[in-house]
Amino acid sequence: ATFADIDLGEALNLNIQRCKYVKPTPIQRHAIPISLAGRDLMACAQTGSGKTAAFCFPIISGIMRGRYVQRPRGRTAYPLALILSPTRELSIQIHEEARKFSYQTGVKVVVAYGGAPINQQLRELERGVDILVATPGRLVDLLERARVSLQIIKYLALDEADRMLDMGFEPQIRKIVEQTGMPPCGLRQTMLFSATFPKEIQRLASDFLSNYIYLTV
Ligand code: AMP
Repeated sequence: ATFADIDLGEALNLNIQRCKYVKPTPIQRHAIPISLAGRDLMACAQTGSGKTAAFCFPIISGIMRGRYVQRPRGRTAYPLALILSPTRELSIQIHEEARKFSYQTGVKVVVAYGGAPINQQLRELERGVDILVATPGRLVDLLERARVSLQIIKYLALDEADRMLDMGFEPQIRKIVEQTGMPPCGLRQTMLFSATFPKEIQRLASDFLSNYIYLTV
């Protein structure tokens, strides 16, 4: 099977072609249909497996095709999707990948990470955001400043969850996830990616995912 056989929406399929992705990697082949079907997902996947596209494609496709209410005007940004990642470097990589594939889809991607001045990130957020890629510490800061609201989050992806826990981000992650996809805005769809699956990750999975499919490649 090739990407041409998976209907992700015309603009996204075209971007995939432009980037010369022809054949899905194993994680993509399994994760993308599960996510497109609306199911929660826990995936064990290493760097280099193509996991970034595995969670970015269904999110971009879903936002492209979804119908969403007008978001409130003002200084608070209301992203539809949140991708949490442990480090600035990984966040930048995910942002690059997501931006490449959202070209001409109308889907806007913004990245926010710590260890860099916040002002530029605030200005970006004010211009509007559909997909927010963020590190946990910086996102908590943005939530406390009320510059981001996670109230209408429809898609939540946690990348390298084991690394985020190793770095001590569990309290921040729990605080963040508590604020996502609250009724009456409907329920979020969640994807949890991790290289390992120890007790702590199993606990996150049972707390954050509902009726999920477990994938290992
Ligand atoms: P990742 O595991 O997401 O960090 O991806 C590893 C590398 O593989 C990145 O440079 C991607 O751009 C590339 N890649 C991911 N999926 C595919 C694919 N289906 N075909 C070709 N290259 C890919």
